This record gives sequence, structure tokens and C-alpha cells, in this order.
Amino acid sequence: MTFTLQDPSLLRAQAYIDGQWQDADSGSHFAVYNPASMSTIAQLADLGATETTRAITAAETALVDWRERSAKERSQYLRRWYELIMEHQEDLALIMSAEQGKVLEESRQEVAYGASFIEWFAEEAKRIYGDVLPGAADRRLLVTKHPVGVVAAITPWNFPNAMITRKAGPALAAGCTIVIKPAAETPLSALALAELADRAGIPAGVINVVTGQDARAIGQALTDSPAVRKLTFTGSTPVGKQLLRQSADTVKKVSMELGGNAPIIVFADADLDQAVAGALASKYRNAGQTCICANRILVQSSIHDAFIDKFVAAVAKLELGDGLSDSSTLGPMISPRAATNVENMVADAVANGAAVALGGERALALGECFYPATILSNVSSDMRVFREEIFGPVAPVFRFEDEAQAIAMANDTEFGLAAYIYTQDMARIWRVSERIEYGMVGVNEVGITSEIIPFGGMKESGLGREGSKYGIEDYIETKYICIGGLGA
Ligand code: ADP
Repeated sequence: MTFTLQDPSLLRAQAYIDGQWQDADSGSHFAVYNPASMSTIAQLADLGATETTRAITAAETALVDWRERSAKERSQYLRRWYELIMEHQEDLALIMSAEQGKVLEESRQEVAYGASFIEWFAEEAKRIYGDVLPGAADRRLLVTKHPVGVVAAITPWNFPNAMITRKAGPALAAGCTIVIKPAAETPLSALALAELADRAGIPAGVINVVTGQDARAIGQALTDSPAVRKLTFTGSTPVGKQLLRQSADTVKKVSMELGGNAPIIVFADADLDQAVAGALASKYRNAGQTCICANRILVQSSIHDAFIDKFVAAVAKLELGDGLSDSSTLGPMISPRAATNVENMVADAVANGAAVALGGERALALGECFYPATILSNVSSDMRVFREEIFGPVAPVFRFEDEAQAIAMANDTEFGLAAYIYTQDMARIWRVSERIEYGMVGVNEVGITSEIIPFGGMKESGLGREGSKYGIEDYIETKYICIGGLGA
């Protein structure tokens, strides 16, 4: 399917640096394609290290003025940007579904979710308070808050809008300027946001978007620069670890939102229909390509078979198709490689004794990126589907006998981002929520994210929190000032 924008000027193919739309110095381009059809949507400017360094300089120059603006003024810019994003929600959703593949309704929701971070941090900008500490009579002890400086943001393709706003919102609110490197698969959503930031009047150099397919070169330029004082990254754990190492030489402040391996634990006393609906919503959202997607469904033995029957019946109703079609409820994966990866994980499980309860065969008739909603039973903890982040529409259902075993299975991973439990037992809710090592826990609920809450993980799932009143802290330096000599 093709798409028609009400405002075609939102579709930008050049990078946005220092308030200017720019091509690569070399004039080279890379293609962005629609994963549903594999057809090219646009040819994007393919920038590298040199242009990235220029973007950092632009951000450094803009910082001088931006951090001196009043909090109220920065708040007003953010508020205007938020309003423009919501005014263009439908166009932004179309661009997103076209380049990312997710179904249109999810794209609309993501644009609103993304915008909510700009709105939230427009409000938080005015509430970055310092302190006066009790001291001696001859001195006053002050704690003041300052923007950390130029921020580099490297973002993934699975949430092409919200992963940017969740970083740019607090950065700008705190008085920082930012250089954003969006994923090469989904730069169009990032550039549309930049176009709206420009229309909101946000000054040149405050927001810069560097497009390019050589992530390593752009990332190296960002981490090598001493002018970049903070790196915020959302993506895979191996790349996050690499960027942490690269940031060590200049001792940058870092935030990392990395991989997950979320369990959904369904106890025998759960409301089964509620648990089935939750597992479906959590697993198949964005074709299973979110870091808080249910990765392992752990079901207590006595209800295991009943759960599988209901789960298969519900999931079978999903409509696999082009994200731009309103009838689709499950879109393609981001790339043929991603679909092949999922295919290999299912093959590994089946070779080791798993049973396919639904799906299990790549839907090549629809296109190379399509993988159907799949459910596996008879799975075990030595299979790849237990150990690795599946990042696709495959739900492995594991059995457990008692609460202790469920907790042990949930914690048997290096990840610790999100987890979900379904039970009606209040004491168990407290016990299990507190004993599982996860940054976020949903109890009888999978829709746990919003701008209000601190999003982030424990263990190898990351560092720092995004959104909420806590999210601003990662963009702030704390300074202590002692004013002495006040005695007579
Ligand atoms: P995903 O599996 O979501 O693609 P990645 O971690 O590969 O996860 O990608 C997340 C972001 O990190 C993307 O913007 C990608 O271009 C970028 N990226 C990938 N490798 C590197 C690297 N070596 N240095 C800097 N950025 C990178």
C-alpha cells in the first residue's frame, strides 16, 4: 500500500543540522524501505563522522544561549512542539507505519505516547529545584542544578518516535542541546519530528538529527567528542556495552535502555481470560519487537493446558498484513534478517522437542518480512527462546509447579527490564513483585508504560530511568556552592 500525507513537507530526506536541511558532504544516499512491500520510500542523506562532528559543534554553540533561557521559555517551546506533533498525528503515524511496518493504530498510539514525553517535560522544565542545606552561621550551603551539556542520543527502529521524544524532552527541558542519530531503518519519523521542532521555533542547533547508515562511524564521532557530555542509548545489549566502553575515555554520563527477556507468570488463581488477553497484547504488539514484550510465558501446571487452548483461540484471530491497512492487527517484521532470526529460533526449539501450537511457518506469500503469530509449547529453559530476546511474534509457553520455581525461572536471565504476573492473591502479589529482579512489574496488567512512570531496567537491561520526575535527573549536573565569610 502507498500513503498520502495531508502535509507532504513532513517527509524529509536530508539531515537537520544547525537549523538547516543538509545532504552528506559526499552527496551519497541510502534507501529507506517499507518492510511490508520492500519498496523504497525515500533516499536519505548518508552522513558520516565529519558531518556528525559539525552537528556536535552546532549543539555546543547553541547550548550557550539555550541553557540561559528561562525554564518557562524552554517549557513554552516544548509545549508548542507537543501541540504540533498532536496536530500532525495522522501523518506521523502514516510515515511510521510505512517505514517501520507496525499497524496504523499502533503508530497513532505511539505518536501520542511520544508526544506525551514532550508535554510532560515541558511541565517538568519549571520544576528543577535546588536546595539550601543547613550549615554554620558564617556560611550558606547551596545545591544548584545545571544542564549536563551537549547530549548524544542513539535510537532504535522499534519505536521511531517515542524513543526520540523520551530523550529530547528531558534534554531540552533541562537546558541541554542534542544530536540525535536515529536508526537507519526509520529516519523519516525522526526527521518529521525535527521539521515540527523547527516549526515550533526551537532555535537552530538545539536539536540536530544526523542520518546515515554507518552507525559505527557516527557513534564513534559522538563518543570520542569531549564536547558531548552525555550519551543516551536505546538498543541492543551488545551495542550498549560497546558504547559504554567508548564513553569511558571521556567519562560521559550515560543512560542505557537495553534488551529484555520479560516473563509473564500466570498463577493457577489468575483470572484466565485476563491473563490470556494480557499475554496477547504484550507479546504481539509491534510484531513482538519491543524490549518489554512478553518473551517467556510461565504458566502453573494445573492450568497450563486450559491456558494454551484459550491463548491459541485468541491469537488465531490476529490478522497478519500490511501495517498501512486498517484491517491488519499484526504487521511485518522490520527486515528479512529479523524474520530469519525468528525462524531460526523456532527451528532450534522444535529440533529440541518444542511443539508448535499455532503458526510456525514464515508467511512468505505476504512478503519476506512476514512471520505469523506463533505459539510454542513443551519448551524448556535450555532453548534459545528461553535465554534470548526473541524480538518477534513467537510466544513460548513454559510450565512451572510452584511460586518458588516461577521466581527462579523469571530471574534466570541476565536481563531485568519488565515482568508481569497474573494472580488474585494479594500476599503473592507483594512477594513475587518484590522478589523478581526487574525494573518494572505489571500485576494483572501489561499496559504499564506512560510518560508518568520511570522506565528502565536492572542487571544488563540498562542504566538510568526515562520519563517521570526521575527521568530529568539523567540530564542534570548537581553543583554545590559554599558561600563563606558571612560572620561579623
Ligand atoms: P536493534 O537490534 O534494535 O537494531 P541496535 O543496538 O543494533 O539494535 O541498534 C540501535 C541503534 O544503535 C541504531 O540507531 C543503530 O544504528 C545504532 N548502532 C548500531 N551499532 C552501533 C555502533 N557500533 N555504534 C553506534 N551506534 C550503533
